[in-house]
Amino acid sequence: LDIDWSTEAIIGRRDKFYAASQRAFVPYKTPLIFARGERQYLWDEAGRKYLDLLGMNVCISVGHAHPTVTRAVEEQIRQLQHCTTMFYHPVPAHFAEELAARMPKGQDWVVHFTNSGTEAIDLALIMAQSFTGNIDMLALRNAYHGATIGAQSLTGISGFRHNVPLLGGVHHIANPDPYRGIFGDDTDAYLAEIDRTIQFATPGTLAGFIVEPIQGYGGIVELPKGYLKAATKKVRDAGGVLIVDEVQSGFGRTGDNFWGFEHHDVLPEIVVMAKGIGNGFPLGAVVARRDVAEVLAKKFFFNTYGASPMACAAGRAVLKVIDDEKLQQNSKTVGAALRAVLDRLHQKYEIIGEVRSHGLMLAVELVSDRRSKTPATKETAEIFEKTRENGIVVSKSGANRNILRMVPPMCIKLEDVAWVEEALDRCFAGY
Ligand code: PMP
Repeated sequence: LDIDWSTEAIIGRRDKFYAASQRAFVPYKTPLIFARGERQYLWDEAGRKYLDLLGMNVCISVGHAHPTVTRAVEEQIRQLQHCTTMFYHPVPAHFAEELAARMPKGQDWVVHFTNSGTEAIDLALIMAQSFTGNIDMLALRNAYHGATIGAQSLTGISGFRHNVPLLGGVHHIANPDPYRGIFGDDTDAYLAEIDRTIQFATPGTLAGFIVEPIQGYGGIVELPKGYLKAATKKVRDAGGVLIVDEVQSGFGRTGDNFWGFEHHDVLPEIVVMAKGIGNGFPLGAVVARRDVAEVLAKKFFFNTYGASPMACAAGRAVLKVIDDEKLQQNSKTVGAALRAVLDRLHQKYEIIGEVRSHGLMLAVELVSDRRSKTPATKETAEIFEKTRENGIVVSKSGANRNILRMVPPMCIKLEDVAWVEEALDRCFAGY
C-alpha cells in the first residue's frame, strides 16, 4: 500500500480524518514524525536522530525494533496470526507460566490476558468487587488508571475524567506525596485519612484499594515507605483487596525489583500490567491470586484479542531480553547516572523545584518559586519544546503540566547519559 510520508500530507490527513479526541495530548508546536526506531534511538522523517527518553510512553521497554521481539512475532505471524481463548494454543500458556513465575512467592498466581492497561484495570475492578461482594473503592488523587468508564472512575486527574456519569463508590483519598501532598511528608496523616474515609464515606466495607507504586502520568510520585503496608492492612480490615497498577513501574524498570510493589513489602491480591509487557504490541494482563481470579469464572469475560499468540510471543521475547541483557540491573545503573545528571541540574537551575526518580522512572518538577512551589507551566512548555530541538524525547506531565517525565527504553546505555546532560543543560539555560 502507498504511504505518503510528506509532513503536510500526514498533518492534513490527521486533521481531516482523525477524531479531535485523538489529538496528541502532549503536543509540540509542530508535529514530530518518527519514521524509524532502533533500541533507544529514533529517527524522524528527515533522518534526524533522537534519544528516546520516553519509550513511546513506556511501551518500548526493551528498545525499538528489538530483533528478538521482532523474530518471535514474525515466526508467530507466519504460523498462526490469531487464536482466541476458545481454542488452546501453547504460546499464551507458556507466557502465563512465565509471568506467574515473575511474581513473588507466597501465593498461587494466575494470569488473565487483555488488550490494554485500561481493560486490565476494568477487569481488576470487577474481580475485586465480585470477590469481596463489596462495591466501594479507594484510589489516590493524581492517579491515572485508564480511559474506560471503570478506569476513568478510578483516575484522579480531572483532565482525564469526562463529564459523564462515572462509577459511584470510588473515593479519591489524599495522595501521600511529600512534595505537594496536603499533609506534606506526614505518612501517618495520610493513613488517618484512609480511616476517616472508610468511616464516613463508605458503608464501612471496601472492595479494594488501587495504587500505582510510582505514579506515572501524575509525574513520577512514589509511595512513601511504610504507607502501602499500613494502608493495605486497613483496606483488608474493611474487607477489601489490594490492586497494584504496574502498567508503568513493572518489568524491572525501577532497577531494585521486578515490580514496583516489591519495594513496599506487600503481597497484592491483584496486579495489573500493560505497556512494556509487549514492547508496543497491544497486550495487558491481570495477574491475581487464584481464588480471587476464580470468581470471574461464574460469568464470561471474553475478549477477542486477549491472549493473542502474536502479542504473547512478543511478551515472551520481552521477558527473555530483560534477562539476557540484564535490563533490570541496567535500569538501576543508568537510572542512577541519569539521577546524578538531574541532581546537578537541580543545583544549577532555580526553576527545578524537585527531582524524583526510581531506576528508569525520572522526573523534574518545574516551579517559578521554590518556596511557594508555584507550577512553572508556561516555562515547562517552552523547555519541553527545546528538548525536541536538542534531540531528546521526553514527556510533559502532571496535573499542572509542569513536570518533565523520562521513562526511557530499559536498554539505554551509560554512554547516552552525556547526551542527556548536554541536551537538558541547553534546554534549561536562562531559566
Ligand atoms: N495505568 C497506568 C499507570 C497507565 O500509565 C496507563 C496508560 N498510560 C494505564 C493504566 C492504561 O493503559 P492503556 O493506555 O494501555 O489502556
